[in-house]
This record gives sequence, C-alpha cells and structure tokens, in this order.
Amino acid sequence: MRRGRRSGCFTIVAVHSTARGPALGGCRLWHYVDSRAAVRDALRLSRAMTFKSAVAGLPLGGGKGVIMAPDPVVAGEREWRSDALLDFGDTVESLGGDYVTAEDVGTSSRDMETIALATRHVTGLSRRLGGSGDPSPWTALGVQAGIEVCCERVFGTRSLAGRTIAISGLGNVGGRVATACAEAGATLLVSDIDPRKRALAEGLGARWAEPDAVLSAPADVFAPCALGGLLDHESVLRLGAPIVAGAANNQLAGDEVASLLMERGVLWAPDFVVNAGGIINISVELEAGGYDPRRAGELVRGIGTTLERIFDDAAAGGVSPLEAAMVLARARLAEAAGG
Ligand code: NAD
Repeated sequence: MRRGRRSGCFTIVAVHSTARGPALGGCRLWHYVDSRAAVRDALRLSRAMTFKSAVAGLPLGGGKGVIMAPDPVVAGEREWRSDALLDFGDTVESLGGDYVTAEDVGTSSRDMETIALATRHVTGLSRRLGGSGDPSPWTALGVQAGIEVCCERVFGTRSLAGRTIAISGLGNVGGRVATACAEAGATLLVSDIDPRKRALAEGLGARWAEPDAVLSAPADVFAPCALGGLLDHESVLRLGAPIVAGAANNQLAGDEVASLLMERGVLWAPDFVVNAGGIINISVELEAGGYDPRRAGELVRGIGTTLERIFDDAAAGGVSPLEAAMVLARARLAEAAGG
C-alpha cells in the first residue's frame, strides 16, 4: 500500500477460487469489531462468491475485498474515505488482474470511480464511463425470479399478486425487490434499522415492522435483504413464512441450518443462487463484445431456471437445496480446474 495515511484503515482481499479466470468480488466498506472479524468475513464472503460464480456458470472465480476502516461515526468518514478506497485500489492493482473488484455493501459506482484511479481491475463503473453501472437492480431482478420460482413450488403459481412478502432491509437491493413485489400486486411488510427507509415503505403502501419482528411475522415469503447470518438454530424456529428467498449473502449461520429449514418444511432458496444477478451483469462487462444490458437481462432471468434445477435435484436426492447447489457448484469447479 502506498498511502496508508491512517493507521486504523487497511484493506483485505480474500480469494477463494479453483476456477480459471479472475476472481470477481465486491468491495465492502464496513466497520468490524477487530481485524480477526474482518478476515473471517472476507474468507466467508470469498467462499460464497466462488460458489455463486460456479452455480451461475460464469468463467470466474470468487473473491472479496474488505476495507477495514475507523468507525465512521467516531472518526469522520469524509476525512479518510477516498484514501481508504485508493489504498484498496493499490492492493487490487498489486494482484495484477487475478482479483477484479466491484460494489458491495457500503460502496457505490462513485466509489468504484475512485478505486479506478489506482487500478484497471475494477468493474461496476457507471455507464457514462463504459461500465455496467450499479449491480443492485440486476441482483433485485434475480431475487424476484427466485421468489417467483419458490411461490410456484409452494403455492402452485409464480404470481405474486395477493402474496404477503416480508422484507428485511430496504437498501439498494431490498428497496428494489420491495418495489417490484408491490408492482406485482403483493402485500408488503418491511423493516430496516434505518428509520429513513420508512418513507419508501409508505410510498409502496407497505406495513412497517421492527427489525426483530419481521422474521417471525406471518407471511408467504420472507426475503432477507440486509446482512448475513440471521438464520440459526433459534431463529429458524420462529420463521413466519414457508419460503425464505432474499439477497443477503451468507444467510445461514452454519451449513447445518439448511437441514433444519428442510425439517421445518421451509423452502430456502440458496442465497448465492438467487443473489447472483449483480455478478452475472458484471460478467457481461468482461465479455469480448463489451457490456450489453439485453444479454445481461437474459442471463439474470436464467437464475429462475437454475433454481428450478436445484430444487429438482434436491427433491430427487432427498437433500437440502444447499446441498444440491453445492453439488452443482463443485461439479462446475472441478470441470473448470480440469478442463
Ligand atoms: P445496502 O447497504 O444498500 O442495504 C442494506 C440495508 O439493510 C440498509 O438499508 C441497512 O440499513 C439495512 N439493515 C442492516 N441491518 C439490518 C437489520 N438487522 N435489519 C433490517 N435492516 C437492516 O446493501 P445492498 O446492496 O442492498 O445489499 C443487501 C444484501 O444483499 C447484502 O447482504 C449484500 O451482501 C447482498 N448482495 C448485494 C448485491 C448487490 O448487487 N448490491 C449483490 C449480491 C448480494
């Protein structure tokens, strides 16, 4: 790192990949309790990105960059933010293209522009600069396709009209999922820790729930669109919906929770399958012909077909959707490593 003007601010890039092609992963600007928590999260997320790319059939590995910065409230984020992003760009550049970064929680297209001052290996730049722009609308599109497939399995129809959908997290993705579900005629129950999101909820005619209550509220679908780790041995028993399908990465506190969900009769759409829309869109940016939003749309809508296959494989093998998705991912990684 060339800059490093603040001692509390450093970056971690984790790459977990056995695929050919660069590891593609978002850049997360988040506050961690300590460096161990940051490394753990970077490793967990890079693993998820590897499986996400493999299941989506992309010629990419998986990686994740975590920027460890001072507490934004205490230290005044404006002061250090661009230095942190430039430091991150230096780290990415030093990997020589083995890792390509993009947006994730806490970062935007504008942040990618700052990172691009230090490295060429950055995607998700604005359309104005020749990039594919914010990946969130594409992630939301994939999540919507996933919710529809789940509804077909459980209720016999993909239509969301009249369904009650509980959404946790009304951010870049969750806000768009909520808007799309409202437009499709669903009744919404939403929550966010940020009270400013109440305005969006009101605009959509959605009921507001406290963050602790939304998971157990009676609904047809629960869509976690905030942060990961919320499904554990205890919370699974409180779920109020027979379907869980949402954008949040790493929703399960541990892989064994997938079996608990199955035992409880809850259909869980593996997060790394349904939230792949953003990375699928970005992968089009890396194709020889350059970025084409129409092609991106077709590929992202394919998430529905992938999820159907995973549910079919799971039913045929008597295993959880997580296990079926991992079998598919490992087969594709083995093919890439040997092919
Ligand atoms: P975001 O930061 O824009 O939104 C997250 C929202 O969740 C914020 O409004 C935040 O206030 C809220 N939140 C945080 N903790 C909460 C809690 N306990 N209860 C309720 N709300 C809470 O992030 P995003 O880009 O919308 O991403 C959401 C999730 O989807 C993340 O897990 C992210 O890793 C995952 N994801 C995002 C993309 C993408 O394209 N942005 C792609 C794949 C996966």
